[in-house]
Amino acid sequence: MKRKRQSSKLLALTSALLVTLVVAQRAQYGAVPYGVEIRSCTRPNMVALTFDDGPSHLTPDLLDLLDKRGVRATFFLNGNNMGKGPITDKSLGHGSVIRRMYQSGHQIGSHTWSHKDFNEISDEQRWDELVELEVALLDIIRVYPTYFRAPWGRCNEGCQAMLSEFGYHLIQWDLDTNDWKQDEQASRDTFSQTLNSQNSAIVLAHDIHEMTVNSLAAYMISTARAKGFSLVTVGECLGDPRRNWYRTAGSSSKTKTNTKTNTNTLRKQWQKLQEGSSSTTPASSNTATRGSMNDLSATPSVGLSVSTVAGDSDASKVTQPSSAESAEEADNDSGAAGLMADSALAFAAVVVPVVLMHC
Ligand SMILES: [Zn+2]
Repeated sequence: MKRKRQSSKLLALTSALLVTLVVAQRAQYGAVPYGVEIRSCTRPNMVALTFDDGPSHLTPDLLDLLDKRGVRATFFLNGNNMGKGPITDKSLGHGSVIRRMYQSGHQIGSHTWSHKDFNEISDEQRWDELVELEVALLDIIRVYPTYFRAPWGRCNEGCQAMLSEFGYHLIQWDLDTNDWKQDEQASRDTFSQTLNSQNSAIVLAHDIHEMTVNSLAAYMISTARAKGFSLVTVGECLGDPRRNWYRTAGSSSKTKTNTKTNTNTLRKQWQKLQEGSSSTTPASSNTATRGSMNDLSATPSVGLSVSTVAGDSDASKVTQPSSAESAEEADNDSGAAGLMADSALAFAAVVVPVVLMHC
């Protein structure tokens, strides 16, 4: 009996949360398309190096190299893959590597929380994979990305439609180094030869391989420059201004305290749902505002607010940042960094009534 009640409660929760999934459409910014695969740069003479599956223990060495050579790259991050432990675990140090990436001006994109195949999992699981990473990145750098790369590049129509709703650009590649095969000469040849026949490239590589970090990356930088290419981020090679690369949690200074309270409530609710059923979906950060990246200092902007919670595709409703806090502060924030008042409102307006109704 108890079990039956529990399962109907879970069903109700799932339905309620699916309602939010259906009704909420994040704003889409800029001229770069959503809901389609993007494989190539739109600007000529540019090479966008992308590194997937990190951060890993090798990533700091790659960041050193990129710093030294004055290169900005794009990192498609996973929250917890290959046994590295969650990026939210401060004792593991992944958060500080991610902050360094962000503060150095590299572009950060989502590669999902745990690298599951998006063609093989349900919408609810995709939701979890997207949002769990968003929550973690909000804690770490106070923003989360609008750029996404699917694990193994696999993203069917359903996946693409969901990414569009979530306001993600799906970024593929048109130069695969195949660095995972660990044949460095083959990777070098592919890179060099492809650049002879293309006037730009989005390059797939991985900062989890020693060969890539310790040797191939330097080769790619030198070779691309020798052939007259600029090394840029994916956003730059698509002509997309930096302010469109991220969304940020926002609240007006007036509602800041409430936002934090509501954020914790949301977080707890999400954790509860996660414990209760693997098929339920988190009710967090479903709507959010565009990140403000006017500068790349150590102070990612927070404090945007937007006037509605669902169906808002009018970028003009986004207001300017009202406050800023340091990334270090973000790190010390007791998990409240991020999810915005609008999410809390969405939760209150859409989820809570339905949940209560069914409980
Ligand atoms: Zn991957």
